Amino acid sequence: MTPQTIDYDALKKRGFLRQKQEGFFVLRTRISSGIYKKEQLEKLAEISEKYGRGFIHATVRQGLEVPFIRFQDIASVENELDGAGIERGTSGPRLRSTTSCPGNNWCKQGLIDTFSLGQRIEKDLGIICGMDLPHKFKITISGCPNTCTRPQGTEIGIHGQVDVASSDKRAGFAVYLGGCGGRTPRNGFKLDKIYSESEVLAIVKKVVAFFKDKAKPKQRLALLIEEIGRDNFLKEISE
Ligand code: SF4
Repeated sequence: MTPQTIDYDALKKRGFLRQKQEGFFVLRTRISSGIYKKEQLEKLAEISEKYGRGFIHATVRQGLEVPFIRFQDIASVENELDGAGIERGTSGPRLRSTTSCPGNNWCKQGLIDTFSLGQRIEKDLGIICGMDLPHKFKITISGCPNTCTRPQGTEIGIHGQVDVASSDKRAGFAVYLGGCGGRTPRNGFKLDKIYSESEVLAIVKKVVAFFKDKAKPKQRLALLIEEIGRDNFLKEISE
């Protein structure tokens, strides 16, 4: 296969991104909530020794990347990843891996179970990293208003917050919509309620479906909201 006949977009979808250095690919992996098992870390270390240059890079979205893999080794690397249950990250017009802090799993400030919410988005809603969409789309979860993972800066941002309006001052979920980074960064706007987990899941489902249906190619959610107006957007997702 020559460089002209390689389907780079298909490789990107499978987690192999073309490097600046000709002939090399970086393997991008991801794992739910950023928790890699010991065996998976050992396998990635082995892959980096065998096919890369013996080092691994941690991405801002909690994936681990192994650079300097040659095209002819990709199939072998994929076999090794499948055997170890390591999922591939992605790039391009697709859903990125959902990022979360530990939340109440071990952080003293944590108000919500961030890992459980991330897993429910994938398992209950089928909204999984690599899903084809008009443009890149990110979901970020933080366990409390300290927002260590900066949920305000992604399309859907969620953080734990005490619902002061509730009689028992229970912890719930605050939601930001329409944030993004890039060259025209935006902070998402915060919805004015504190939600239950099932309500948050319903919002995530509606917003992703709306974006998939209505956004133009290469249009981030922030720009789609600006185009149609925030009130119309909220009506569309019934909020
Ligand atoms: S956002 Fe809150 S719960 Fe998450 S790591 Fe930061 S302080 Fe802990």
